[in-house]
Amino acid sequence: MSKVPAYAAFDPKKPLGPHTIARRDPGPKDVAIEILFCGICHSDVHQARDEWGGSSYPMVPGHEIVGRVAKTGSAVSRVKPGDLAGVGCMVDSCRACDPCRRGLEQFCQKGAAFTYNGTEMDRKTPTFGGYSTRIVVDEAFVLKVPENLDPAGAAPLLCAGITTYSPLRRWGCKKGDRLGVVGLGGLGHMAVKLGTSMGAEVTMLSTSKAKEADAKRLGAHAFALTSEEATFKTLAGRFDLLVDTVSAPHDYNKHLGLLRPEGTLVVVGAPPAPIPVSAFALIGGNKRLVGSLIGGIQETQEMLDYCGAHGIVSEVEVIPAQKVNEAYERMLKSDVRYRFVIDAASLTKKGRH
Ligand code: NAP
Ligand code: ZN
Ligand code: ZN
Repeated sequence: MSKVPAYAAFDPKKPLGPHTIARRDPGPKDVAIEILFCGICHSDVHQARDEWGGSSYPMVPGHEIVGRVAKTGSAVSRVKPGDLAGVGCMVDSCRACDPCRRGLEQFCQKGAAFTYNGTEMDRKTPTFGGYSTRIVVDEAFVLKVPENLDPAGAAPLLCAGITTYSPLRRWGCKKGDRLGVVGLGGLGHMAVKLGTSMGAEVTMLSTSKAKEADAKRLGAHAFALTSEEATFKTLAGRFDLLVDTVSAPHDYNKHLGLLRPEGTLVVVGAPPAPIPVSAFALIGGNKRLVGSLIGGIQETQEMLDYCGAHGIVSEVEVIPAQKVNEAYERMLKSDVRYRFVIDAASLTKKGRH
């Protein structure tokens, strides 16, 4: 066991603060990673504040982890000390059930071991995430991060990257497709970058006029305000595919109206409360309303390799862990450009800001 400094939520209503956790010594198949950077996902905010229910404390959030391999167990063959490695939303699963065998470990029938706010597969040992300086994970759930990518910019690929890459691939996003991305935050800006790299004509649908120039710089061909009713008239029936990344309650029916017949609205944003959907918004035009949850391990590696080949990383604002509460507040005001990333050095005495 090693004692590791971390930042944790202790209660849904209180700010996060310093904490110490224990990490196991690496077993034969384990990889110990010295964390360099960890992205801050809006799911961290939802769970730290118990907005989805069932949160357990103390909670060390963080599932966008990039670091250097420090130590490997005797049976590890995929990575070696010194490699740039990543850990995403899962640290284990049963590996035997039908979804696991199909590369959909996030839907493991026994319940995947999520990186934090969960347990290992023994269902007893709590998992702690990346707002810390070290993590120990079975090699099957360790991702290889291309060395040409900036490690801070690569960290958000482990959740925001795969969560947008997976549905774009599943729904066949290709050259000339009209793609609309709803919400320009961490997930949204990755959807813009990935969608344009696949050749789609991308429209950014946002509530923040101030983000228009950034959306275009990120690759969007057009920008429209969802806070203006006129947008839903002008763009009615336009899109083949919409990726909705919005974290707060909003109207899916209006977005369905923006799809061409047989178009698809993919929900990836996870607002805490249910949102009513009208049957008529779906049957008029044979529309599809679908969801998507992160991506399996193999597809996450495919996405990292794709980003390595295309030089795609997240736009990040690197912060010390001590600024995480401020970052949460700014995300809630949609003031994120476009992913906060914790510099793990800030958790050590030497690197404290
Ligand atoms: P984020 O960086 O905070 O971005 C969310 C964006 O949504 C905001 O920047 C804002 O963009 C827009 N927005 C916020 N409130 C809104 C409102 N009331 N009405 C309309 N638009 C609003 O969050 P994120 O990290 O990208 O995560 C987004 C959501 O996806 C969260 O709910 C998160 O839990 C979920 N998530 C799901 C998965 C999955 O596997 N499905 C994985 C990761 C995260 P504009 O300023 O452009 O309007
Ligand atoms: Zn996430
Ligand atoms: Zn399984």
